Amino acid sequence: MSKARIGIWLIGARGGVATTTIVGLIALKKEFIGTSGLVSSLPQFGRLDLPEWSDFVVGGHEIRAVSLADEAMRLVTESRIATPELIARCKTELNNIDQRILPGTIHRVGKTIAQLADDAVPQRESPREAVDRLKRDLTEFAAANNLHHVIVVNVASTEPPVATGEIPKTWAQLEPLLERPRKCPLPASSLYAIAALDSGCSYVNFTPSLGSSPAAVGELARLRGGRHTGCDGKTGETLVKSVLAPMFARRNLSVMSWVGHNIFGNLDGKVLEDPVNKATKVGSKDRLLGEILGTRTQTHVSIEYIESLGDWKTAWDHVHFRGFLDVPMALQFTWQGCDSALAAPLVLDLVRFTECARRRGQNGLLTFLASFFKSPLGVNEHRFDRQFQILEAWAEGD
Ligand code: NAD
Repeated sequence: MSKARIGIWLIGARGGVATTTIVGLIALKKEFIGTSGLVSSLPQFGRLDLPEWSDFVVGGHEIRAVSLADEAMRLVTESRIATPELIARCKTELNNIDQRILPGTIHRVGKTIAQLADDAVPQRESPREAVDRLKRDLTEFAAANNLHHVIVVNVASTEPPVATGEIPKTWAQLEPLLERPRKCPLPASSLYAIAALDSGCSYVNFTPSLGSSPAAVGELARLRGGRHTGCDGKTGETLVKSVLAPMFARRNLSVMSWVGHNIFGNLDGKVLEDPVNKATKVGSKDRLLGEILGTRTQTHVSIEYIESLGDWKTAWDHVHFRGFLDVPMALQFTWQGCDSALAAPLVLDLVRFTECARRRGQNGLLTFLASFFKSPLGVNEHRFDRQFQILEAWAEGD
């Protein structure tokens, strides 16, 4: 197995998912914790050429002026993730990583996200200037840390939806728009994706924001021999939906309606209080039921910010279905998950599998990672078991 230093560059590097990912990675390196929750540690992936925990170096972009160690401690006090002792044992590494977190961009992120930004974040850069600066940061990170490859993971706040019809379909048409701030419809997540792919990095979009979804950005990935995947990590309620919905379909039980009510109180939830940011997330959470069950099922997703819950998401789902003799019946379930603790191991899995794909010479859109996403790019298969079989088949070298 090759030993190579690999960079993980987190966009939103001091947020809940990023901080939990960083704490988890340090704890794995020091063998303070085991591997529960990590898909890449399952036996069927044991023969893959995956990077070791000690191979990784972390840096990132952020827009808030807070300290990583303080954010880690806040996860303990507000949301009961990990223990104060664990954070104390990781503090030196957290402070070192903090030095490698640089100001990001807020181009077209909407007012709710822009309000989070501190003075170090440039307010008036053109998209071209922003992309060039982000590329410089990535190149310097790779050089300073003697890295073989860098994987950029977007775990920043969810942006408002973008009118995708306005985005040119080819890279040759899209690139000149970077010089024209008023005409460039791309939000920050896509500028990060362009900077990553144009620098030869891989790009993973863990959020429902636009990121590398536009065809022209996918073309850039192919032109540069890079790889990308996304979007929106499938960590909780939507994961359960993608397991249960095929059951109804296979038993020919007609689902008349499926209502999902989500409540939680972290910073992500606060940003999603803004109806425009919420629209992006609701669309992503709702999409798969139509794909699996067909459009006759009435669906409804609600998301409410309830501050006292912190990072603990409660989702209550009500599924109303019809059986033989048209008898109406219902299934209800309640999911109570710690959002960041569910997401962080998947971020590490995605990084390891993406690096493994690079070592296998695989470029372009990494569709075999569909099981990790609510809205997998380039894949219409939403049934979790089928998606997981695709991952296993890839691991076996198919
Ligand atoms: P968070 O609000 O705790 O963290 C987001 C971080 O991104 C914040 O620190 C914020 O300052 C930073 N940020 C915002 N815009 C930025 C920009 N343009 N550049 C750089 N940094 C920026 O949220 P979170 O709970 O960590 O979730 C992160 C993202 O992952 C969200 O988009 C969320 O919807 C998505 N996601 C989370 C889960 C989960 O937690 N289970 C599952 C799927 C998707």
